[in-house]
Amino acid sequence: MSKNDQCFQRNAQSVASHRCEVAEHRWVNARYKYLRLAAEADLAGATRPGQFYQLRCPGTDALQPFLLRPMSVYGTGPEAGSIEFLYNVTGVGTRALAALEQGGHMEIVGPLGNTFGFEPGFRHVMVVARGVGLATMAPLVRQAAAAGVRITAILSARRPEDLMSEQFLRGAEAGLHCVYDSDGSASVESVEALLRRLLDADAPDALYTCGSHRLLMLLQRLLADYPQVRGEVAMEQRMACGMGVCLSCVRMFDREGDKQFLRVCREGPVFPIREVVGEVEFG
Ligand SMILES: Cc1cc2nc3c(=O)[nH]c(=O)nc-3n(C[C@H](O)[C@H](O)[C@H](O)COP(=O)(O)OP(=O)(O)OC[C@H]3O[C@@H](n4cnc5c(N)ncnc54)[C@H](O)[C@@H]3O)c2cc1C
Repeated sequence: MSKNDQCFQRNAQSVASHRCEVAEHRWVNARYKYLRLAAEADLAGATRPGQFYQLRCPGTDALQPFLLRPMSVYGTGPEAGSIEFLYNVTGVGTRALAALEQGGHMEIVGPLGNTFGFEPGFRHVMVVARGVGLATMAPLVRQAAAAGVRITAILSARRPEDLMSEQFLRGAEAGLHCVYDSDGSASVESVEALLRRLLDADAPDALYTCGSHRLLMLLQRLLADYPQVRGEVAMEQRMACGMGVCLSCVRMFDREGDKQFLRVCREGPVFPIREVVGEVEFG
């Protein structure tokens, strides 16, 4: 089966628009909000780690978002039918979304995209996350913990106040390494030294990342020295339709020497780290 067929198989399912009630909506810190929607039980049950929804952020008097906003699924549960999101309040769409009150309603489209290539037979996985990448990786951590797979996590943030390790682990046990811009421990050199030490001591079956292009490029370089480790990245490319039609999210990938433009929303958002082309020169 070709890699494109594998991608398609990992995201081959019907997509529809769903009207959901806001079951819970609260700030977790100064920048992030947690949103729990009540959806149909089979929708939540069919949602896999790494997948995302397009959120129709309801307009307010001052804010009128036109495009839907892509958000990774942060979790499902605790009740059957709950779909959770953890999002950074930044621009027009997320500021409008932040105004939505408990008991209100909103529309979501999905689940969209593929899922991580996680195998329950894995013994040890490593997760490297920064910023909103924590929300994307959290369900994978839950899946690994439920399968009894050992987890090593490297969490990167600007400052200790910005790191949401509790929201990331949600009770899962992991060997946790927190690095910060504020003390220099999140610099490429420091993270590379930390990762090399961890990989040399006990290389994982797979390494997953999300949230930082700088870390992605570092991991791609590092993985060249650890060919036995599978590497995957969940890409957060700006996108409009989220369904593969508008092509605004295409990125170049190198599949064994074959350079291809692929849609992050449709063939991704999860891709092998080794296939990402960092810099593209247009002639
Ligand atoms: C797969 C995926 C998962 C994500 N998961 C999360 C998450 O879990 N938590 C989180 O906080 N953030 C997540 N993000 C990022 C999140 O989608 C953005 O932060 C959010 O869209 C910003 O919206 P805004 O209205 O606040 O910002 P604004 O900057 O006002 O609006 C950005 C909007 O414009 C669109 N847009 C802008 N430029 C272009 C362009 N050139 N082409 C096409 N569309 C454009 C964007 O798609 C988006 O809808 C994710 C992104 C992706 C792609």
